Amino acid sequence: MDIDHLRARFPDENACRTFFESIIWRNGRVCPHCDCSKSYRLSGQSSRPGLYECDKCKRQFTVTTHTPMHSTKLPLWKWLLCMYLMVNSSKGISSVFMAKWIGVAQKTAWKMGHAIRELMDPGAESQPPLHGIVELDEKYFGGKPRFKKGVTHKRGKGTEKQPVLVAVQRQGAVRSALVDSDSVAELCPWVKRFAQKEAHLMTDENQAYLQIGKHFAGHSSVNHSAKEYARGDVHNNTAESFNSILERAKQGVFHYMSSKHLPRYLNEIGFRWDHRIPTEKKTKKGTKKIVMIAMPVLELLYSLLSRALGRQIRRSKKGGIFSPITSKAC
Ligand SMILES: [Zn+2]
Repeated sequence: MDIDHLRARFPDENACRTFFESIIWRNGRVCPHCDCSKSYRLSGQSSRPGLYECDKCKRQFTVTTHTPMHSTKLPLWKWLLCMYLMVNSSKGISSVFMAKWIGVAQKTAWKMGHAIRELMDPGAESQPPLHGIVELDEKYFGGKPRFKKGVTHKRGKGTEKQPVLVAVQRQGAVRSALVDSDSVAELCPWVKRFAQKEAHLMTDENQAYLQIGKHFAGHSSVNHSAKEYARGDVHNNTAESFNSILERAKQGVFHYMSSKHLPRYLNEIGFRWDHRIPTEKKTKKGTKKIVMIAMPVLELLYSLLSRALGRQIRRSKKGGIFSPITSKAC
């Protein structure tokens, strides 16, 4: 779906609101303040479109109340366009460019980006453990140390950089987490959470995985330091491919991802990774191979908006953002 089709599908604010309501309230309209299912539309001259009042708590709400779009003054079309651009990009879009493209201030685009990344968080409940072949790898986030003549700085492991553990099911979903270190004690609980016991782990030669692998049905590793990157079907190139997207997003788009906001950037890249379908494709030689194709845009938008209710992003007093816990009390 290109932008022309998107505009034709959502020609005005009313069409956007109807689309949002059909997904966020797919099980029927509920008051976001007290969960009551009885409410009525306010249609007076002073009421803005899409405003409802709860029959029980008498508080007013719209489809964006208690979602990451809470109290937005922007047209829903701009939110939809921002979501469309984010789900269609390969490595993400910086807030500077997003601001130019959708016609808002950079700070607004930055907050919108993080609100949408909040929607991209699958949540613990919808993250069943990975199965089959599960590839593991670590990624280290942080800038290069200041240049010193004659000094060669270490890269990745063993530096002060933020380690991220990445687990990828082959032709399947990805899980990632910020970890304190790459020790067995730190990594093992995460790997146990991410992968089923019956899974076959595939890793590089990192010694920690030798210990962790004992808790799973199988473990194979390749020796990168001996320039062995694949041995038949044994490799962790899929996990490295995900890490490569993270690196390109950092180097080419965002330039800086703080540890504080890093989980949201991981959610964004993980969302696009998880919303692909394995599809058989013919190669030029006539053989068949499996390629991962992105899901249709409307399905991606549905997936985003279906997670909206109860998640919030607010500006903090210091100018940053935080996620308040939604109070259900009336
Ligand atoms: Zn209510």
